[in-house]
Amino acid sequence: MSNRDDERPDENPASTKSLHDDDRDPLGLSPQVPSDIPRGLDRRKFIMRSAVISAAAVMTGCARSETERTAPPPAAESPQTVATSGTGAGPVVPLSPDLDVVKKEKGPVLTTVDEFYKVGPGPSSSHTIGPMRITYDFYQRATKLPADKLAKATALRVNLFGSLSATGKGHGTERAALAGLVGKEPATVDPKFLDGLRDKPDQVFPVKLGNKSIDVSLKDVIYDATKGDFKHPNTMTVKLLAGDEVLLEQEYYSVGGGFIEWKGYTPPKKNPPKYPFKTMKELRTYADDNKTTIAKIMLANEMSITGRSEQEVNAFIDKIINAMVATVKSGLSMSEDDVLPGPIKLHSKAATVYKRAMDDKYEAERGIGALSAFALAASEENGRGHLVITAPTGGSAGVMPSLVYGLLEVRKVDRQKIRDGMLAAAAVGYLCKHHATLSAAEGGCQAEIGVASAMSAALVATAYDAPSLVVENAAESALEHHLGMTCDPVAGYVQVPCIERCAFGAVKAWTAFAIASNEIASRHRVNFDETVMALAQTAKDMNSKYKETSEAGLAQSVTLC
Ligand code: SF4
Repeated sequence: MSNRDDERPDENPASTKSLHDDDRDPLGLSPQVPSDIPRGLDRRKFIMRSAVISAAAVMTGCARSETERTAPPPAAESPQTVATSGTGAGPVVPLSPDLDVVKKEKGPVLTTVDEFYKVGPGPSSSHTIGPMRITYDFYQRATKLPADKLAKATALRVNLFGSLSATGKGHGTERAALAGLVGKEPATVDPKFLDGLRDKPDQVFPVKLGNKSIDVSLKDVIYDATKGDFKHPNTMTVKLLAGDEVLLEQEYYSVGGGFIEWKGYTPPKKNPPKYPFKTMKELRTYADDNKTTIAKIMLANEMSITGRSEQEVNAFIDKIINAMVATVKSGLSMSEDDVLPGPIKLHSKAATVYKRAMDDKYEAERGIGALSAFALAASEENGRGHLVITAPTGGSAGVMPSLVYGLLEVRKVDRQKIRDGMLAAAAVGYLCKHHATLSAAEGGCQAEIGVASAMSAALVATAYDAPSLVVENAAESALEHHLGMTCDPVAGYVQVPCIERCAFGAVKAWTAFAIASNEIASRHRVNFDETVMALAQTAKDMNSKYKETSEAGLAQSVTLC
């Protein structure tokens, strides 16, 4: 790997101003939108395009010319774009503008590693871990009701909407929702409990609420409307009932990566970060100005936001690293004849690919084969519903673990470098969440595997001591080459294309690192913030059939027999 510490990007005059000179939301509309709308362009599309161009200008410091800002698009928009803009025939799941994930946070990134890297049962952070956290949250709220109210309770009811209803069966959403309702947490649940629910779906469990015990079963989790005016594509409600009377009801949203929100949600109050940043450009400027790394800036922020010591942060990251290694090992140890749950009858292949790759004549082929096998192993564990780590989601849970395993267990890279890599990777994931989405139901697979690949590229570059610009370039490149990737899981199961896709995400991450560490870094033409803007815009424009609904793509073309 080349050592090009002295390579810095050409400074744009706009970048010489303070990071805080412009505190507008990078996705903000009003001050940036010109009033003259070119002929032939409808106002809504024009405003959206202008907003994206303006936001890119704010994030990158590159002003756009009047001609660029007002020129009509080079070609007519595709039928797919028209369908998702609400004027065509395609199904639309509109996002409420007052939902926090849509509004986008105005301030600096405040996400922390323990919120971001979550351990829980596969196969999907949004359809398994999120719903389980939601029902567990409701269970806790219900236990706090006054005793006289609880004494009247007769039933608990969960209703799943949108994508949760459309593909929930394939994800085991009803089992995850029931597990949370009976008081089980994602990080500690025994996957055998969930397997037991699959094998014996008629089981009944008593839920203790005060002095009252309420029986619940899978019949209390209802697959409701798949289409409607939902605040988020992954919407669900949970109710505590006394006959027909509702004692407690909450509407929740599983917004991706295992994150949850609810009606009236406001983000928790946190301490300010030591280095407030909203963009990769700002983050990297802090690192470069302080002659340090992105990882060190992230560590300082983590400590100031949470009040934790460096040892405590490292202890948490070690837990995640160890869990990632364990998931690869566990996946590789599965029999080559193992068949994953569900109607696809997909055979496990991680162990076979690994063994055969080790017999390859050339070292490079052995390396690519082994990396792919590690990703397949962790992703197959996700398909089994075993414990995985959101990095950033369950569907993409094979990507980062494969690189962590390869670096730590195969290349024997120092653990501290892996910790640093985990922090740099987290920064990449945070920024994608902050300005775009981690939810396939909002943005397709680019938001899952694409972000996972970008995070992994940052991990590898950091672990190999690359300068901050190379870390950014590697992450940018990996994300760029996943833009537009749709989510179309066959039969609603996170197996095809998801498992192999994790392997491709891992290999692309390595490719991105290989290019970024060998090119002349300052000549890299696209910056990370611009690509995140493209991710957000592509997510908005993508037809909802390709957003984890199994209504199109491979989910329709693949025949199961
Ligand atoms: S296709 Fe991609 S986004 Fe969709 S479930 Fe599979 S891994 Fe997740």
